[in-house]
Amino acid sequence: MIISEKFKNKRPIISFEIYPPKREEALRDIDETLKILCELKPDYISVTFGAGGSSNNNKTIALAKKIKDDYGVEPLVHLTCLTYNKNEIDQFLRELQSQGLENILALRGDRNPNIAQKEDFFHASELTTYIKKNGNFCVAGACYPEGHPESPDMVSDITNIKKKVEAGDAFLISQLFFENEMFYNYVEKLRIAGVNVPVTAGIMPVINKAQIEKMVSVCGASLPEKFKRILTKFENNKEALYDAGMAYAVNQVVDLLASDVDGIHLYTMNNPRVARKICESIRNII
Ligand code: FAD
Repeated sequence: MIISEKFKNKRPIISFEIYPPKREEALRDIDETLKILCELKPDYISVTFGAGGSSNNNKTIALAKKIKDDYGVEPLVHLTCLTYNKNEIDQFLRELQSQGLENILALRGDRNPNIAQKEDFFHASELTTYIKKNGNFCVAGACYPEGHPESPDMVSDITNIKKKVEAGDAFLISQLFFENEMFYNYVEKLRIAGVNVPVTAGIMPVINKAQIEKMVSVCGASLPEKFKRILTKFENNKEALYDAGMAYAVNQVVDLLASDVDGIHLYTMNNPRVARKICESIRNII
């Protein structure tokens, strides 16, 4: 089913992100993860894509197909474009079509000095335009409550988000953030700019200090003081950090739901217990 239709029938939409494990054995273990995630009945599960053209990208399609066929949950397939030419994207789109996969998150991908950039696509909006022209897909895009790290200012950031939506993105998924007020301000700016598609809030429950420091250094999200205090206080106590990290994420999610957010997208890091704990905490709220 086309995910944009789901937003017409239900708000908030609840979704999870997973990544294809690199090792073959881990890919077999993914069934245990999917079983728990799918029992939570998410509206869709998104599957990440390696920007480097690795063979792991076939695993993205295989995993998406498994989610759809074996678990009856709608997958959203991430697709990046910076390191691909039109022929390669065509091949990917044909494969998705033949597998009955209808939903794509169109992304540019991060720049990587070790991977050659190609000349067909420079921005995610160009990929969205291309997909809409060459297939019958529902396309979504990424957005950044603190602005994309390469954006010189919020005006150019939002101007470029508007281009994606004009190109055909039917909804947006936000980068992770730890301060809800920042997300609310950002969505307000999008609305003022005339971006009226649903905006789903990306939430990452933090249970591991090293993991979050790595994520934040890659994506540029800032850590509020109250969150840093939790990390500092409990970094050497795994159980305490788990409890505190989960409580923080639940608190964020409850506030977002109370504010009538369009959707919540949980970055699960392939840890289904984290997703289960959050869903259990809000089962009487959604
Ligand atoms: P774009 O929309 O192209 O934006 C990138 C920068 O270019 C921004 O600063 C933007 O303002 C600017 N820009 C856009 N259009 C124009 C224009 N016409 N003229 C001038 N400037 C412009 N990466 C992966 O490799 N694999 C994944 O699976 C993956 N999944 C993600 C999922 C989510 C929800 C998010 C938020 C990010 C994900 N990423 C993933 C990371 C993403 O690829 C990076 O953030 C990347 O740097 C930007 O991608 P984008 O699609 O937002 O790019």
